[in-house]
Amino acid sequence: MSSTVAFFGLGHMGGPMAANLVKAGYRVLGFDLVPELVTAAVAAGVEAAPSAAGAVAEADAVVTMLPAGRHVLALYREQGVLAAARPGTLFVDCSTIDVADARAAHEAVVAAGHRALDAPVSGGVVGAEAGTLTFMAGGGAEEFAAAAPLLDAMGRKAVHCGDAGAGQAAKICNNMILAVSMIGVSEAFVLAESLGLDHRALYEVASTASGQCWALTVNCPVPGPVPGSPANREYRPGFAAPLMAKDLGLAANALRAGGVEAPLGLKAAEMYAAFAAGEGAELDFSAIVRTLRPAGTRENGTPA
Ligand code: NAD
Repeated sequence: MSSTVAFFGLGHMGGPMAANLVKAGYRVLGFDLVPELVTAAVAAGVEAAPSAAGAVAEADAVVTMLPAGRHVLALYREQGVLAAARPGTLFVDCSTIDVADARAAHEAVVAAGHRALDAPVSGGVVGAEAGTLTFMAGGGAEEFAAAAPLLDAMGRKAVHCGDAGAGQAAKICNNMILAVSMIGVSEAFVLAESLGLDHRALYEVASTASGQCWALTVNCPVPGPVPGSPANREYRPGFAAPLMAKDLGLAANALRAGGVEAPLGLKAAEMYAAFAAGEGAELDFSAIVRTLRPAGTRENGTPA
């Protein structure tokens, strides 16, 4: 077991993940650019690292939970972290980043004499706090096995998806399914409204028929049928629309890079980008249903 972990990025996700490593018995040296986040992590038992390079010098493993690929690459390449680490240190990047950036990060880590795993997560802040995240990992079998105790301390499940970048690939493919299915479910409810079909009646049929999916039965975009879904609390996230837009942007990059035609995925990326930049900025991604109703109609299909 790696006993000392350097943890970079103590934000919404990284803060509670670092705290769970402490709870599991790890010594955690934390680093973030925002001093208040370091203070909060220290209250949870994390030690404040003196600098980026200082955090890794004593570490057996380095976990990153940063906003985007450029942050991960800059940390690895420009902040002396790879040079300061002991040979063979395990670098586990849990951020959601571009597949191409993830592969470049692996290359940089390995070229510096270390070991790398991409391990993005699903489960959100609630899962990070409860230690119930799912990790999707890319890298060698030996790296995955070495990271297992760490991932265990922060999550409930870890799937080894393949080589470098495969974890990121699984993450964006899954979220592309989710986005397209959420838009499909939302369009069906809006069609039902215009046909005078009750939400509950559609739910009762579709939830036990071939329309069944997570977007319908867990995160139902209209209030009523699934009491726990964000629609019942004015669409407070949940999974915020800007995070969905970010993940779809990564999927769109990968589609274009691979020359893959995915008209629905690309359309979903476009729709979520516009929604997240406007009225959806603070809302759950299921609130996209609001943009699909004909102008001037209400949730029940009647004129506003
Ligand atoms: P966040 O913005 O709350 O946290 C990121 C942190 O990284 C910030 O505190 C920032 O100051 C810090 N940071 C940036 N550059 C740094 C550097 N060089 N050194 C140290 N710290 C640095 O974001 P978050 O919501 O915690 O998300 C983190 C990652 O997890 C993202 O890639 C996101 O896509 C992914 N993710 C988020 C969620 C979610 O529900 N929030 C769910 C799944 C995956």
